[in-house]
Amino acid sequence: MSTDTIFGKILRGEIPCNKVYEDDVCLAFHDVAPVAPVHVLMIPKEPVQSLGHIAAGHATMLGHLLHKAGELGQQLCPDGFRVVANTGEDGGQTVNHLHLHILGGRHMGWPPG
Ligand code: 5GP
Repeated sequence: MSTDTIFGKILRGEIPCNKVYEDDVCLAFHDVAPVAPVHVLMIPKEPVQSLGHIAAGHATMLGHLLHKAGELGQQLCPDGFRVVANTGEDGGQTVNHLHLHILGGRHMGWPPG
């Protein structure tokens, strides 16, 4: 896949982000257009396009992403939070670099609007 996505540019330091967390595997930063009081994006440093492009070799990275998303969500939204991975066109994915939305800071409701 092309790494020339907006998230690729953020990972390469070509455009800034408001960083929340970083380690060797992932980066988390505030969404530029938040839809909830807490809206953090968590992305793997490895350029995987989406959950629809996952291979067996990605299992450790995915586990790490979910582990850290859970820790961050609990830290930022102790009353609860939602983790979403929009996938593909019908899933509403607009940036073709796998990412988790961590959403909270208010009651999120269901089904999502
Ligand atoms: P998607 O629609 O692909 O699930 O989510 C992409 C998200 O990336 C959107 O919520 C959008 O607001 C966010 N986004 C797009 N461009 C930027 C950017 O340059 N910086 C940050 N921090 N977020 C971005």
